[in-house]
Amino acid sequence: MGINLEYLFIWTYNGYFSDDMKKTLVFLLTFLIINTIGFNFIYSWDDCPFGEKDSSCVYPGDCGKYIDTNNNRICDRSEPSPLTNQKETPTVPIELNLPEIKGSTIKTMTLEEVAKAYSIDTQDLMESLRINVSPKTKVESLRPYGITNSMVKEKAEALFIESNKRRYGENAVINSTHQLESIESKNSLEKILKEDLLVTFGLMILGILYFFRFKRKEIRYFALGISLVYLGFIRGGCLCVVGSLQQLSLYLIGAIKGNYLYWLMLFFLPLGVTILFGRIFCGYACPIGAWQQFLNDIGTKLTKFRMPHKLDKILKYFKYLFALVIVGVVFYSRYPFFQKIDPFSYLFGFNFTLYGIISIAIVSGTSLLISRPFCRYICPYGAVLAIFSKFSIYKIKMKNGCKKCTLCDRVCETDAIANGNLDQAECIRCKKCIDSCKFGILK
Ligand code: SF4
Ligand code: SF4
Repeated sequence: MGINLEYLFIWTYNGYFSDDMKKTLVFLLTFLIINTIGFNFIYSWDDCPFGEKDSSCVYPGDCGKYIDTNNNRICDRSEPSPLTNQKETPTVPIELNLPEIKGSTIKTMTLEEVAKAYSIDTQDLMESLRINVSPKTKVESLRPYGITNSMVKEKAEALFIESNKRRYGENAVINSTHQLESIESKNSLEKILKEDLLVTFGLMILGILYFFRFKRKEIRYFALGISLVYLGFIRGGCLCVVGSLQQLSLYLIGAIKGNYLYWLMLFFLPLGVTILFGRIFCGYACPIGAWQQFLNDIGTKLTKFRMPHKLDKILKYFKYLFALVIVGVVFYSRYPFFQKIDPFSYLFGFNFTLYGIISIAIVSGTSLLISRPFCRYICPYGAVLAIFSKFSIYKIKMKNGCKKCTLCDRVCETDAIANGNLDQAECIRCKKCIDSCKFGILK
């Protein structure tokens, strides 16, 4: 067809036809072009070869002839013509029932199945959840991305309402058994992150004030208590600063999308404080550190066991290796595997699976014997902070005249002091060494 038209133009131009014939040909060509453009709009409604009707075929369609001239992500061939629509149903309300699917059912469905149940596009659902995973991913597997079953349900409902409002305008009446005003979750991830970020920041400020100004050690335990109860058990460890290294990696490779400002702030805020004052976050605001700290305070009353310095020196390098492994695995698999193995995501999420119980028991039991074992040997974020803490602007200094009494060494929560040397990377600014030194050597 294209070749014939080309010849037609050449012949017309070269004078093969009379003027009258040329006019007729131009008229016919114009008619043909306008019809070809208009054809799809006029004739592509309600003529699905697969018999799809009532706006049932969503992007990308089933037959390879998907066409969407009104941009509503529904194939025109499964929709009634808008012209017919306008004439037939100008003001009649269209009642639509919001699919009622229980959270426990959603949990076992794949993203694809959820989208189908709500007649929405899977890609739209993933976009609104700001993830980029396989459509076959089960909803329960999204927890490591910080996405709960109820978030998926709420986003699917919001998209269902949005797409029908777009399609039927004011005529759409959505029937639901629950309040539609609450469609946008009050507990959406960003809101949680924003609030938790503020609490974390507040606890770090309290830590800085305690370190430089206050004397009463109850203030430190107050900060750790708030962190453990609020950020840990009430928030379910949702704000996982420890996991933020992984979230940042996922963000960089595009596995999670959207406004991840809060995740980034979560990663960089404690880091910024560390560059200024050292690992204040670890000493005052981390719920994981707090859990181990409280257990060890109980443990030291029962036993006097201490990790031998030589072994400690070797084991503490493991956390750097582990941080590299996490980033490597995330880059390779695009999967946030750390939450799968992190005992604290099971503890704070009250997720007592067999693995959960065993891993919590191991880390808690070890914390009774050794001060902060997870912090010192495993925590990937602790590894990042440790590197920056080495170069922090404020450092605890040891003046000359140390009597080698080892008082500071014995109270140090992270075994950062050995043979009169203080390892800035391991120090969490608990201030116990400064308070214990009778000779004022530490400042
Ligand atoms: S080392 Fe890790 S787990 Fe321990 S207090 Fe610091 S961030 Fe928390
Ligand atoms: S005792 Fe001193 S060196 Fe040890 S963690 Fe606390 S502040 Fe740092």
